[in-house]
Amino acid sequence: MRYVFSILILFLLVSPFAKAEGTSPAPTAAASPLASKPGDPLAEENVPVSATEPSAKAMRHYHTGNVWWWVRMTWGLALPALILFSGLSARLRDFARRLGWKWYFALCLYFVLLTLLNYGLSWPLDYYQGFVRPHAYGMSNQTFQKWFADSLKELAIISALGVLFLWLPYLLLKKSPKRWWLYAGLAMMPIYFFVQLIRPVVFEPLFNQFTPIENKVLETKILALAERAGIHGSRVYEVNKSVDTRTVNAYVTGFMGTKRIVLWDTMLKKLDERELLFVMGHEMGHYALGHVIKGILCLSALTLVAFYLIHRIATALLSRAQGRLGFDRLSDMASLPLIVLLMNLLSLILMPIGFAYSRHLEHEADRFGLEITHYNHSAATGFVRLQEENLSVPRPSFFYTLTRGTHPPIGDRIDFFNSYKPWEHGEPSRYESYFKPERSAKK
Ligand SMILES: [Zn+2]
Repeated sequence: MRYVFSILILFLLVSPFAKAEGTSPAPTAAASPLASKPGDPLAEENVPVSATEPSAKAMRHYHTGNVWWWVRMTWGLALPALILFSGLSARLRDFARRLGWKWYFALCLYFVLLTLLNYGLSWPLDYYQGFVRPHAYGMSNQTFQKWFADSLKELAIISALGVLFLWLPYLLLKKSPKRWWLYAGLAMMPIYFFVQLIRPVVFEPLFNQFTPIENKVLETKILALAERAGIHGSRVYEVNKSVDTRTVNAYVTGFMGTKRIVLWDTMLKKLDERELLFVMGHEMGHYALGHVIKGILCLSALTLVAFYLIHRIATALLSRAQGRLGFDRLSDMASLPLIVLLMNLLSLILMPIGFAYSRHLEHEADRFGLEITHYNHSAATGFVRLQEENLSVPRPSFFYTLTRGTHPPIGDRIDFFNSYKPWEHGEPSRYESYFKPERSAKK
């Protein structure tokens, strides 16, 4: 996702808390239905699995990925700084004001011009990171046409979201220069909810095809699992991600009426039934435990803090700059690169908090998935496969986890799958109260 210059909008597009993780399998023969009577084939689920050593290729991908992360971060600061300190932002504003006959239209025009400029200047980096590099590692099936069309669609979405929502913080900046950060921060919450609501039905279908899951036997089992998790009328979709990537994933997305579980078709091909059912149990955990809402609340709180800090820092900077940037107030639209620059800087500090919370939610979803399926071994073999397919490193550095870890490291997750079996010792499961007592698997 190309977000160097648009982290504000990125916040809208990305819900870092909703992504799930695939598992990987070592094909086990004919997985049993969910019903787990004592003494049934679930015994094999007690066999521990160890995380495999990452391949040389995975290590190379990891190390070069770290370098590219720094490049991307630097670029995310350098580009808005360049646009700001060169006076380009003020010139773009003047141009937009001449053409846009009202404040709102001038703001929209300014934003779209800035977004286009960002797209053009970031293109080589985006092309390398989003297209060349995944192909070089054999992780991508995407044609250049698809990649390019997707990048244009993202550009259109970012522009549309800016046109829809950017006026709000700028109006608040005008009307309440001292408290804008509070009102704007609070206003972001319903906006996040709105974007999360329409995202599966408006944005995501622009990029891929979503169809009801084809494997009806699997669907029946997934729906039985959902019933047991107390989730009724849930929808499970498969998406043709194989046109884009060879990596595997699944996620829960949407909100209220648009909430759904989505499986990448790549995952359906690579995981066996139990491994898939564990992943579904994990996804249902997100669903049943209200993780989408919790994620948005966390993001909203972080946004509020970010806005407050931007308010303090930018006000101090502007009084020092004394108009040399071509504007002297934050309410001037030409301040946008300054806001983005500070937002990207602050995200280095704030996102690790969001990621830590995300890892906590993921861990709880893993617990939910284990408790509802008891597929400990399959969960682990699934993640070994996931690790291999996605060129993941099972035990990345602390810094990596801190700055990019939306999920616990795969090695830690496998350890947890191997060890978490309270039912073995007659101990209560944490989420038992969420499960419907009768098993309705045998349909
Ligand atoms: Zn998850």
